[in-house]
Amino acid sequence: MIPFVDLKRQYLNHRVELDAAIQDVLENTAFIGGKRVKDFETAFAKALGVKHCIGVANGTDAIYIAMKMMGIGAGDEVITVANSWISTSETITQTGAKVVFVDVEPDQFTIDPKLIEAKITPRTKAIIPVHFHGNVADMDPIIALCKKHGLKLIEDCAQAHFSQYKGKNAGTMGDAATFSYYPGKNLGAYGDAGAVVTNDDALAEKMRMYANHGALVKHAHQIEGINSRLDSIQAAILGVKLNHLPTWTANRRKNAALYNELLQGIPQVKLPVEREGCKHTYHLYVIRAENRDGLMAHLAAKGTDSVLHYPTILPLLEAYGYLGHTAADFPVGYAYQQQILSLPMFPEMREDEVRIVAAAIREFYGG
Ligand SMILES: *Cc1c(COP(=O)(O)O)cnc(C)c1O
Repeated sequence: MIPFVDLKRQYLNHRVELDAAIQDVLENTAFIGGKRVKDFETAFAKALGVKHCIGVANGTDAIYIAMKMMGIGAGDEVITVANSWISTSETITQTGAKVVFVDVEPDQFTIDPKLIEAKITPRTKAIIPVHFHGNVADMDPIIALCKKHGLKLIEDCAQAHFSQYKGKNAGTMGDAATFSYYPGKNLGAYGDAGAVVTNDDALAEKMRMYANHGALVKHAHQIEGINSRLDSIQAAILGVKLNHLPTWTANRRKNAALYNELLQGIPQVKLPVEREGCKHTYHLYVIRAENRDGLMAHLAAKGTDSVLHYPTILPLLEAYGYLGHTAADFPVGYAYQQQILSLPMFPEMREDEVRIVAAAIREFYGG
């Protein structure tokens, strides 16, 4: 059996360190806030190269908090990409703004910058590109559009911890960026967790306040906020894991390179591309395959798990039926929806396992 991800292997490799970090929180009974949270926020901001990191309850809240504190709300429009996890778009609606979807760039799976300007109206307030699967969006033209039209830029980095665009870390190029530490993400907690980062001092303070019931100091509520905090136990776990992330990312990239080598030359299979001059962190290794459902069944019969990220592009989900979109509005995203397949990918995956998966794919296509 080859699992899609195996979080247990990672835990067992670092068990002593992780157990000690959790134990320390229990001994100190500081469960909300405190030193562990502060330490992790400081370490993550420093590693990424931003001034502020604000730990929050999850990556979805992070996006909502950023938009809300930028003043986005009813009557506004926010542009994002047609294929992402629903957090990116549902939070736009939660602020009261309208979601405007843009199709994906061929081969890259990220928002197509050439299609954005046609969707900008006087009501547009922000663009949220998603660095999808670990592959960065094409930021230069997006930054230029934001400057030209006076729009805010929020990078959704939930799948892209330390991915790079032309030498710059994902999450350092916009007005704010959001991270998820969902257990299966490249940097994952043992429960829900997330963060929002920024270089803007005033925005950082507002976001920290909003996430903590509108107060920076206990009982001094300057505004009404929400309860979205990073738990101390999760912060302690993340603090330990952050030190190992460079090694884990290198292992993901090594496994991706081996898949690329073993799967090349199969006419029915398109391999994931890494944007030129950029660094993909392979949160997911997504191929595009002919007879995808047949391949998925073949792999399952051989004991290999594979997954769809995601089976339906956002505008075609029932939840967005009210927008009245059809597949023809998003030809690239819709075509990819039938072809995508995420193969097993995790840092602890062994070379022999990558070889078994690749051999099963070759066998399916008779090569
Ligand atoms: C995981 C994810 C989120 C949301 O993160 P949670 O921590 O699960 O709330 C947002 N955007 C994308 C692209 C994601 O993959």
